Amino acid sequence: MTTTIDTTIHTLREEIASCETRLAELRTQLAAAEARSQTESRNEQKARKWPLEKDDYKRYGRQLILPEIGLQGQLRLKKASVLIVGVGGLGCPAAAYLAGAGVGTIGFVDGDTVDESNLHRQILHTTPKVGMSKVDSAIDYCKSLNPTLTYTPHRTPLTPQTALPTFTPYDLVLDCTDNPATRYLISDTCVLLCKPLVSASALRTDGQLMLLNHPSRPAGSVPARDSDSPPGGPCYRCVFPRPPPAASVVSCGEGGILGPVVGVMGVLQALEAIKLIAGGRRDRRYEPSLLLFSATADAPFRSVRLAARRPGCAACSARATVTRDALAGGSLDYVRFCGAVEPVRALGPGERVGAREYYAEEPDPDPDHVLVDVRDKVQFELCSLAGSINIPYSEIAATALPPRRRIYVVCRLGNDSQLAARRMKELGLGAGGKRWIGDIRGGLSAWREVDGEFPDYG
Ligand SMILES: [Zn+2]
Repeated sequence: MTTTIDTTIHTLREEIASCETRLAELRTQLAAAEARSQTESRNEQKARKWPLEKDDYKRYGRQLILPEIGLQGQLRLKKASVLIVGVGGLGCPAAAYLAGAGVGTIGFVDGDTVDESNLHRQILHTTPKVGMSKVDSAIDYCKSLNPTLTYTPHRTPLTPQTALPTFTPYDLVLDCTDNPATRYLISDTCVLLCKPLVSASALRTDGQLMLLNHPSRPAGSVPARDSDSPPGGPCYRCVFPRPPPAASVVSCGEGGILGPVVGVMGVLQALEAIKLIAGGRRDRRYEPSLLLFSATADAPFRSVRLAARRPGCAACSARATVTRDALAGGSLDYVRFCGAVEPVRALGPGERVGAREYYAEEPDPDPDHVLVDVRDKVQFELCSLAGSINIPYSEIAATALPPRRRIYVVCRLGNDSQLAARRMKELGLGAGGKRWIGDIRGGLSAWREVDGEFPDYG
């Protein structure tokens, strides 16, 4: 009996030992298989191509984690191409933010070179770059900011002949120019090529921003009644069918401009572009609006709803007269449409003297003549000629002139001075011809022929 039990115990022990040996073998095999699997998956991961470059995750990380951008938005930015027309106060900040955000291709159009008077607002240009092409200066900056993108230079001014081929390769256009003729040309070209346009402008302490031709539809296209697709957005001509009168157009050269004001508008253009591209919203319904910015207002931003496309619009309606052939063939004269600013010719030759002539002939001080400077008070305080008195153009009628026999009028460039002298005569200040009233040709700008040290404020 005892022997039988002993045998059973022995057999069971042997079986357990055998199972344990087998178990140990299986554990070893499992560990080996797991190790192999880990190596393989690591190799697989190494071989896997991430949708963005490794460095891009780091570079764009802070915007990638925003739900408004995310991986898909970043990929759309990478694939996108944006054309910036005008590399000045608007174009510079817009370009910097688009390059920073990773817009794959950025094109720059500008025929100008960097001038010292640009530097207070055109933030990509620097003092050592004065005289350099603005396009090259901007690309130079953007490359150092983000060398992973493609930058395309267009170093000549935009013309009706160059607009179509220049715009064609791009998805989106930013109008960063400062003259009405180019604004119409840019908008017309965008309509012809079905491209959305982010348009901005800034002057003195105010700015405007619009997203135009969005969604982009061919001229005159009407969505089918049962279609979900929204109609095309208005173009620049829909909003401004007629240009402002030429005389009322002040460029930055004449009107002042505050750097941060134009900077705000350029940054908003970049933001609008990034939202449009990253959000993949190119075809969505959009309520067109005009954003107005006023630096001096209590509430600096306000938005005005814009109407839909104008039924008779010359560019985007079914009756459009702006066609590819008309544009490329040069039959659309944008400068004439906007009215060329004619030089002022209000005085005759006997009523005008040159700066050198005045300097040579009129002793200072002289009881017989007075020099009236008709610039604004703020400009007069910047710099003025010795002995001159300041009567701003708008105050001529309300200010008594000193009783002198000769009145010389001077302004910055010699335009307002002619109008002021004529106005004085109309007011009877010429005393029936007994008193000579005339101006200094070329204004204070010409005075630098006499005194090279006289300040030039742009
Ligand atoms: Zn239109």
